[in-house]
Amino acid sequence: MTFQFDNSYLRDLPGTYLRLDPSVAPAPRLLAFNRDLARDLGLQITEDEAAAWFSGAALPAGAEPAALAYAGHQFGGFSPQLGDGRAHLLGEFLGPDGQRWDLQLKGSGKTPFSRGGDGRAAVGPMLREYLISEAMAALGVPTTRCLAVVATGEDIWRDQGRLPGAVVARVAASHIRVGTFEFFAARGEDAKVKALLDYTIARHYPGVTGALPFFDAVVARQSKLVAQWMGLGFIHGVMNTDNMALSGETIDYGPCAFMDAYAPGTVFSSIDRQGRYAYANQPLILAWNLARLAEALLPFFDADAARAGDLANERLQAIAGIYRRDWLDVMRAKLGLEGQAAGDEALIDDLLPVLLGHDWTLTFRRGFDGFGDWRDRWLDRVGPDWEGRLATANPAVIPRNHQVEAALDAATAGDMAPFEALLAAVRDPFGPEAGREGFVLPPPMGLAPYVTYCGT
Ligand code: AMP
Ligand code: MG
Repeated sequence: MTFQFDNSYLRDLPGTYLRLDPSVAPAPRLLAFNRDLARDLGLQITEDEAAAWFSGAALPAGAEPAALAYAGHQFGGFSPQLGDGRAHLLGEFLGPDGQRWDLQLKGSGKTPFSRGGDGRAAVGPMLREYLISEAMAALGVPTTRCLAVVATGEDIWRDQGRLPGAVVARVAASHIRVGTFEFFAARGEDAKVKALLDYTIARHYPGVTGALPFFDAVVARQSKLVAQWMGLGFIHGVMNTDNMALSGETIDYGPCAFMDAYAPGTVFSSIDRQGRYAYANQPLILAWNLARLAEALLPFFDADAARAGDLANERLQAIAGIYRRDWLDVMRAKLGLEGQAAGDEALIDDLLPVLLGHDWTLTFRRGFDGFGDWRDRWLDRVGPDWEGRLATANPAVIPRNHQVEAALDAATAGDMAPFEALLAAVRDPFGPEAGREGFVLPPPMGLAPYVTYCGT
């Protein structure tokens, strides 16, 4: 079976997108094809079909390509019109369990939302999205997934010079962002905000009635998501409101990266000069972004503006406590603690200062070797048989930056073997360390600080 499209966003939300076809890739070549994901989604797609459909060279039957409108707060400043500047939603299809999925191409050419951009993407950043999102899925984090990356056969220009172009085909629960709500709210189009609200509730929060319970449900999902990121040392890198999905999935893998040694101020993105999206700032940005969503929903919280504001403020003030509980749950699991005990918060809080400079991932995995006094307290609390619990809660393999870089450099030069080896490793994050030390160990000391770039 191939895609059985049922394009509800286009049908239900007229005036929120522009219909237009992707650019035609001149010489598509399949670089990566996610057979496991295709199978799980009930799709039978040949490699020729994948190369053609996932590069824009041809359209699968029933696709109705569109670029979606959205706005967004980028690094704190509002951009009233962003939108899909290099992406095309091909349509929505239903999986074997009836779950609805967006199929989107990214890097598929210019749209009216492109502003100065070329609408294109390079092989490296698209394979990066594929790799990191597969790692996140294997780590149990809600995320968009990639079905394929296809080289277009066209070169594009970036700061680094001429690079091979590619398109990624992405599957997502949807592409509705905080910025989608902001787009219509900022234009005073309340009827469209309401239609989007009803649509989002029906698609992602069935059973929820009304804007306030919806907001609470979004807060709950986003808080759990960011708590999971923090547990893994994941830094999204560009938590703009247009990169926060209402589905609760991690979306838009640009300059994201995993932290090696623990340092709360860690920033990888070249454009994040103030450290707005630093590791330890992510929970604060979570609340900031949710405040922007609350603003867009304000008229639907209560007909009385003052009352709506009070209700929103109550909600926003509760976020820090909700996140704290979610984070403590994540940390309890990482420490192998069962149940809850009075001293847990202090035990967890006291770990962070002694962890500074140590490898975030392996320290948990290996049972806090060398953490003297703190470790004694932990041993008292954790009880026997903690080894197995640590190994199921803490990965041996994350996509280490130095490995990701080496794999993408090789792929850009035409050699996919290192990418495939790394992909296989990150798809089995909780497996044994032995036999794959190269993917387990942090980078050698003395490497220059790691810097990531937006995938533009
Ligand atoms: P991002 O940083 O990927 O979240 O993108 C922010 C905005 O810039 C979105 O509206 C994108 O569609 C747009 N954008 C990013 N890269 C390009 C590009 N190469 N061409 C056109 N638009 C782009
Ligand atoms: Mg984005």
